[in-house]
Amino acid sequence: MNEVKSPKKPLIFYYVIALIILMLLNIFVIPQLLKPRVTEIDYGTFISMTENGEIGYVQIQDNQIIFTDKDEENIYKTGLMDDPGRTERLYNSGAVFSQQIVQEASPLATFFFSWILPTLIFIGIGQLISHRITNKMGGADSMMFGPGKSKAKVYVKSSSGIKFSDVAGEDEAKENLSEIVDYLHNPKKYSSIGASMPKGILLVGPPGTGKTMLAKAVAGESNVPFFSISGSEFVEMFVGMGASKVRDLFKQAKEKAPCIVFIDEIDAIGKKRDGQFSGNDEREQTLNQLLTEMDGFEENTGVIILAATNRPESLDPALLRPGRFDRRVPVELPDLKGREEILKVHARKVNMDANINYSTIARMASGASGAELANIVNEAALRAVRDGRNTVTQSDLEESIEVVIAGYQKKNAILSDKEKRIVSYHEIGHALAAALQTNSAPVQKITIIPRTSGALGYTMQIEDGNHYLMSKEELENKIVTYTAGRAAEELVFGSVTTGASNDIEQATKLARAMITRYGMSDEFDMVAMENVTNQYLGGDTSLSCSPETQTRIDDKVVETVKKQHQRALVLLKENRDKLDELAGYLYEKETITGDEFMEILNR
Ligand code: ADP
Repeated sequence: MNEVKSPKKPLIFYYVIALIILMLLNIFVIPQLLKPRVTEIDYGTFISMTENGEIGYVQIQDNQIIFTDKDEENIYKTGLMDDPGRTERLYNSGAVFSQQIVQEASPLATFFFSWILPTLIFIGIGQLISHRITNKMGGADSMMFGPGKSKAKVYVKSSSGIKFSDVAGEDEAKENLSEIVDYLHNPKKYSSIGASMPKGILLVGPPGTGKTMLAKAVAGESNVPFFSISGSEFVEMFVGMGASKVRDLFKQAKEKAPCIVFIDEIDAIGKKRDGQFSGNDEREQTLNQLLTEMDGFEENTGVIILAATNRPESLDPALLRPGRFDRRVPVELPDLKGREEILKVHARKVNMDANINYSTIARMASGASGAELANIVNEAALRAVRDGRNTVTQSDLEESIEVVIAGYQKKNAILSDKEKRIVSYHEIGHALAAALQTNSAPVQKITIIPRTSGALGYTMQIEDGNHYLMSKEELENKIVTYTAGRAAEELVFGSVTTGASNDIEQATKLARAMITRYGMSDEFDMVAMENVTNQYLGGDTSLSCSPETQTRIDDKVVETVKKQHQRALVLLKENRDKLDELAGYLYEKETITGDEFMEILNR
């Protein structure tokens, strides 16, 4: 899609330019136009014209002679020479002496040329510019037409628009939306049977999963204009402005129907109205206007509203009822296959090595969104350029995943020998625990090269497939793996370090979720103690229980983590020789692959 850019410069800029041009015209060009054309000739020609009696009127000035020919068609001038008999000769030739040959332009003409004409041109240019912009924007530019107009960016039809094929994975969402495309192509098919298209479709999902892309793809596939605006752009400082923008947007959309209106981050205006006095009046008015507008247009007018949000639970129920946003399309994080496809889509734009194993990369990038995968491919390309190569290799991709996960390698962070040894044992502790518990994912890579994120080393686990369900045992094993780093330190060095803070956080989070949300404790059975408030934005939770219960939950969490920590200690103690061998190897090599690790483990 080609976006029609809103003009960056305000109208006053064009007016100033026009004014400068007109002033220059007035000073240099118009006086020249008003002046009669005078041809300069040499004195000899003047003498011969005098002798031939070809001169009509003549005027002798202080430094030049101005004269016309007999027919008074042309005006000439020549320099003044010391020529005593000139007046007499002229008189004899029949020339008429005149005081004024070059007529001053009439005052009326001067006035016309220097004032009226420029003013007309000035107004004309202004009209032309504003007319053109209004046409392009569909009358929508707030900078010049007042703050109450919508700032929707309009994308016009173009052959290079985004198509469904550019959006990899997300097959369910695409299937859902292709119905809309079909409708926009062929509305009669639907109206003849009495079916009406949903007016609004809400795309919900975590950031960077391709919601905007999907909306653009719908417009691209159906070849209709696409209005795009972000929810936050509606909310202004003054109450009523946002509502007026909503009206304006819908007015434009109806004029351009069939078309698609895309409202990104709709939660900015669509938040639940809470009825408190401290409520945000402007936001509520904007929302009310949106509700009214969505009711106001008839079904099957060809205006389809798509909206995207990461926080569906915060939206006002009135917005979600049938007749408004009556369809909800989840756009989730891609699964393994989806990740592979997204990588391939983005790899098309990059010069890739022929034998790249996208499946491995997709496995390594578990939990990554489409936007992150796009970023990974780009980081890999940048790395190839940095190394002066012209194709991107597998190792570029692998390294760029690590960059995205853990930051760049720290070039000059030097660990002391003791620290390096501790980090080696810590990381091998994680990896060994993961590998020994059959249900844990095998290890992809272990490294003790410090990264800019602050990690002194890390163990990259690899998924071997998609997991939709996790059993209690698997979750417990995960906690064992998290705590095994610290367990290894305790076992070998008899002391503990700060290096485990992230592990502690993760283990606690998991243990708490098992108790409060997954019903995996005997004590609380299947009672929800926590609610997820932000499913798509990090999964924040809020407790919904009495303070006494909270205390018991806390005790339970401690108990769970402690138990798994003990299991980790036992597991590592039983395999102490492998722990030493692997840690020694890692200490020496700094980075070892999953295969090397397994080879030593199974020796
Ligand atoms: P959202 O609106 O969900 O936050 P976007 O649609 O803006 O995410 O996606 C951001 C970028 O991520 C896109 O420009 C694209 O490069 C990449 N991306 C996300 N999802 C996909 C996908 N399914 N297929 C291909 N690229 C994707």
